[in-house]
Amino acid sequence: MHIFKRELCSACGDCVKACFFDALKLAGKLMKADEVLAEILRDKSFYQKHGGGVTFSGGEPFYQAAFLKEILKLCRGENISTIVESALHVPYDVIEQMLPLIDIFLVDIKHLDSGVHKKATGVDNKLILSNLQRLVESGADVHIRIPIIPGFNDNIGCVTDIASFIKEIGISKAELIPFHGMAIGKYQSLGLSYDAGGLKPPEDAVMNMLKVAFENAMTQLIPK
Ligand code: SF4
Repeated sequence: MHIFKRELCSACGDCVKACFFDALKLAGKLMKADEVLAEILRDKSFYQKHGGGVTFSGGEPFYQAAFLKEILKLCRGENISTIVESALHVPYDVIEQMLPLIDIFLVDIKHLDSGVHKKATGVDNKLILSNLQRLVESGADVHIRIPIIPGFNDNIGCVTDIASFIKEIGISKAELIPFHGMAIGKYQSLGLSYDAGGLKPPEDAVMNMLKVAFENAMTQLIPK
């Protein structure tokens, strides 16, 4: 019988190798930046021919700042374009040191009401919105994604508030994306509870209505 204590596991993988029935799996592996670059370079000719590059996502890529900076530098050296997808809930100086190495920032905005944001995510949105504003002021290319989550922000008021805010700070690239529950498997494998487990993706009609309202707000609002 395999007794697994997550808090003691060092992810050595010995139990995976020893299991006769392939019942255990070790997800992910430790890699150095140059090893990751070697993987990326396998597609370099594709990027050169058709465009594209690398997106660093997560989790939160800025939580591994030293590694992220190293791999971004290596990508720069190979002329491979870079996107970082972040929630921006990190000190701005962490982001700032990598500004010259990142071509596009993909940033989620979930809700403009800080109290509602905190209730749902565990943190308020002050740092996120302040970082976003500073990013725009720095001249970074920022694309906003708004995950539409049923019962949380799937209403016209929420999406038009966000449209108003991003337009005011000078962002024009934004899209609404429907919530999906694909993260549930990862949460389960990590032994974490997944609070959004009962949620279903928003209906097409709701997405269409919100997209129209959002696009109208983005078009009509006049930046300061
Ligand atoms: S991965 Fe290594 S440390 Fe973790 S449970 Fe298996 S044998 Fe133990």
